[in-house]
Amino acid sequence: IRWTQELFLKLFEAGLVYQKEALVNWDPVDQTVLADEQVDENGNSWRSGAHVEKKLLKQWFIRTTQFAKELYDGLNDSVLHDWKDIIKLQKHWIGECDGVNFYFKINNVSLKNSENDSVTVWTRRPEHIEKVRFVAVNDSHLLALKENVKTNGNTIKLNVELINPINGELVPVFVTEELKFEPLSDCYVGIPSASEEALQFAEKYGLKTDPLNTVDNPDDLTEKQKVICDKAKLLKAGGHWSSAKLRDWLISRQRFWGTPIPIIHCKKCGSVPVDRGDLPVKLPKLSQLSRKDKSPLQDDSSWLNTTCPSCGGDATRETDTMDTFVDSSWYFLRYLDPKYSREMFSKDKAFKMTPV
Ligand SMILES: [Zn+2]
Repeated sequence: IRWTQELFLKLFEAGLVYQKEALVNWDPVDQTVLADEQVDENGNSWRSGAHVEKKLLKQWFIRTTQFAKELYDGLNDSVLHDWKDIIKLQKHWIGECDGVNFYFKINNVSLKNSENDSVTVWTRRPEHIEKVRFVAVNDSHLLALKENVKTNGNTIKLNVELINPINGELVPVFVTEELKFEPLSDCYVGIPSASEEALQFAEKYGLKTDPLNTVDNPDDLTEKQKVICDKAKLLKAGGHWSSAKLRDWLISRQRFWGTPIPIIHCKKCGSVPVDRGDLPVKLPKLSQLSRKDKSPLQDDSSWLNTTCPSCGGDATRETDTMDTFVDSSWYFLRYLDPKYSREMFSKDKAFKMTPV
């Protein structure tokens, strides 16, 4: 537990974990979130067998998409030549990384608790990102759900706007079925200068347009893309190559078991990491389990209520625990030297003895 929490804190400090509202698979019997892989082809839970519902919840994510291209390209490494089927599976799971993710902040103060939230948009034409004239979403996208908008075949402009991180321009958002979204994607980034379809949509709805510009000298193109991506990375606004389908990893679970997320919520300071000296955060012993619509850890008030490590004021512990895959994503490295006390695992031994 202690070292998995250390991993979480390292990712938190590096800006690689974040909290965001998301539509999740909800198991109404076990009262927890499930990964897509834990829902069977009939839409039932692998554990409880209950029919899985969709629900909007504030959840913790790991920014796995930032590493998509590295992971994908790494699968071509010759040391992995014996892992044929696994490689095929992993390549399929990541998908071809032929586009770039950018994070557009939500510009609407009326959306409660959303000040820090952003929307991830993906495009094959990152060199045109400064010319985004609209973003389109479908019914199941967070922004449409927030405003309770259903298209029913119509195209509807939402109240919310997004902020282009590269030039600060405001971008309107539409809920529509008129455009061809990428498979499995609920979001479409409208760049008239890079897409005939986006140009027509922008003209139809009286938006700003730019002349269609599809030809670029390959060398210039690579250079332009690199400049834009570097700028986005500097602004912590994306700029990482990824596939159209890969999403960040949702790790929050609402369970009385699993590794607690080592975060304390303070009204003044926000989400504050638990001090290293106070790790591990252990689970409370619950006398009985509630069947209410919340994490069971919220029932133990003596565990829940604590003081803020930053200002010393009243604060509460994060009650989500981590997906067990977080533990299993690294524990094998500790087998190399299980008594090692300075860090999660011995880097020397890991470099020498493991293939990845
Ligand atoms: Zn505080």
